[in-house]
Amino acid sequence: MNADVRPYYLGCHLSLSEGYASMGRRILALGGDTFQYFTKNPKGGGKNKEADPADVEALGRIIAEHGMKMPVAHAPYTYNPCSQKPEVREYTRDSMRGELEFLESLPGSLYNFHPGCHVGQGVDEGIRVIADMLDHVLWDGMHSKVLLETMAGKGTEIGRNFEELRAILDRVDPGLRDHVGVCLDTCHVSDAGYPVRDDFDGVLREFDRVIGIDRLRAVHLNDSMHPEGSHKDRHAKLGEGTIGLDALMDVVTHPMLRGLPFCLETPNDEAGYAREIQTIRERTSYGNE
Ligand code: FE
Ligand code: FE
Ligand code: ZN
Repeated sequence: MNADVRPYYLGCHLSLSEGYASMGRRILALGGDTFQYFTKNPKGGGKNKEADPADVEALGRIIAEHGMKMPVAHAPYTYNPCSQKPEVREYTRDSMRGELEFLESLPGSLYNFHPGCHVGQGVDEGIRVIADMLDHVLWDGMHSKVLLETMAGKGTEIGRNFEELRAILDRVDPGLRDHVGVCLDTCHVSDAGYPVRDDFDGVLREFDRVIGIDRLRAVHLNDSMHPEGSHKDRHAKLGEGTIGLDALMDVVTHPMLRGLPFCLETPNDEAGYAREIQTIRERTSYGNE
């Protein structure tokens, strides 16, 4: 393994409202070495505010100087790659393509999105449409990875089990497939019915069997407010949910996940995130390995 890879990278979701370099400075102050942000207002529509290239460059410098992991850009919730409405599919595809082109200014970025809701079209049709969209937004030679997020299985969400994500991957153009990975959300996977609390090692072995562990590029580290298999998707603070801190520590320190970025999406302000980051740092032998 590369000597400059850290045992794990840890951070949290941050708001982009103060710009790019601000996120880099804030995550350092919170004790993190990676982070996630929404590419635009997660619930609103509209165009991207034009980013200031000097601001983006400044973030790139902060990341390089501090040996941080490139952040995860999260697509807004308004996107639905497999909507039954052609205009929503088109809007999603064009927006994603634009955001991926922008991310070439932060090479090595991860771009995470929810596969979407098929809304009655059926799982197979949804999977076909999502893979078709990926074929349109990816290109040979791009410098980001696009990540499918594991979902809780609320409503008609696609990605409620590893098989559905594998089916999407299998349908992507083989020449572009290397640009696609998976982001595992611990709350979602538990809500989907996988035993994260009692047998996370078994969950990862199942992931490896169905998808292949090398596709796993990022983790959302969340506790869950609801029991395993509830299909609810309500995140809890670490240790305040049904997964519990001990099991979540097993996630952070699992040898199959070494060197990956872990992002908190717990219901916290930045001070709360700083406390959770510190709790995890204190419980690991970070820096002593
Ligand atoms: Fe998400
Ligand atoms: Fe998530
Ligand atoms: Zn969620």
